[in-house]
Amino acid sequence: MAKFYSANEANPAILKGKTIAIIGYGNQGRSQAINLRRAGHNVIIGNVEDDSFRQAKSDGFETFAIDQAAARADVILLLLPDEIAPEIYRRDIAPQLKAGKTLVFASGYNITYQFITPPADIDVVLVAPRMIGQGVLDLPARGEGFPVLVGVKQDASRHAPATMLAISHGIGAFMPHGAVVESSFEEETLVDLFSEHTWAGAMLFLLERAFKLLTEAGVSPEVALLELYASGELGEIGHAMAERGFWKQLKLHSHTSQFGQLTHGAQFIGEDAENLMRTAIREIQNGAFANRWAAEQAAGSPTFERLLNNALESPIAAAEGELFAKLGRSA
Ligand code: NDP
Repeated sequence: MAKFYSANEANPAILKGKTIAIIGYGNQGRSQAINLRRAGHNVIIGNVEDDSFRQAKSDGFETFAIDQAAARADVILLLLPDEIAPEIYRRDIAPQLKAGKTLVFASGYNITYQFITPPADIDVVLVAPRMIGQGVLDLPARGEGFPVLVGVKQDASRHAPATMLAISHGIGAFMPHGAVVESSFEEETLVDLFSEHTWAGAMLFLLERAFKLLTEAGVSPEVALLELYASGELGEIGHAMAERGFWKQLKLHSHTSQFGQLTHGAQFIGEDAENLMRTAIREIQNGAFANRWAAEQAAGSPTFERLLNNALESPIAAAEGELFAKLGRSA
């Protein structure tokens, strides 16, 4: 069973007099910076000089080049995109690290695959929100928390767990409906990539195939899209799963719907699906996926670009553009 930390295990006062640098003022960076400042901590920002940098300044933060922010900080939250972070870490952050500093990650990826290998005399912890950046900002602003997965990789100072809990507290994870759950860099990487490589990716392609078959059967593209996802019902079902329960949410559907889902759904999941999931787990754990992705980026991401362009130019995307225009949504 995973340990759930309680708010009284966190001591925000251990960050008193310390400087926290947020490196990367994007989805997570802006939200976590604002929450930590509201919690009374001393927060500075490190970002390249661009729109995010200007946003940080206009939000009232002291804002520096990344190496300067890292040099000034006791606690460094590395909130850059995972594929960018290793290069910036090597160039701008590693030279500024010294004993007593703490490096905080919001994702296990770069530590798990040793794309980043911090020196042994600093603390390295994970505080990984299970929430998009906008939620990290909005929920605490109305008094609610969100779940974070936490873990300690290096505890050179013997204060790493305390720093991890104080940062979790400062970003709002201990507020009502939040949770601070013990995990690890490796476990966070496994569950995150597993979803992407199995059910989440599969759902996209399943829905796209459903769109093709429904329109071939004479259904108008608009009706097919509204049925499949464009109404927003899919999001409501996901919300009901989280609030009421995975199967209990079925009670919100008609009896005909429940009977149809229970009798038809399972036939799409055979041994093949299980084997694919096992392969996905193996390739996450042995680093095969991470190596493939690193090689793809080193080659300039040609396969990624081609697949993304194909997807964005597919019939479902074209039909969606027309529907969104009719609904007054920006595509
Ligand atoms: P973003 O994509 O929002 O980018 C964060 C920052 O990195 C931005 O300020 C961006 O600046 C900067 N940046 C991008 N490219 C470069 C570059 N080449 N050189 C210097 N700076 C650059 O990241 P996220 O907030 O989405 O992700 C940050 C971390 O949080 C990651 O580890 C991610 O896995 C984790 N995470 C993200 C979640 C999410 O919902 N997004 C959820 C949970 C964890 P600019 O905008 O100016 O390009």
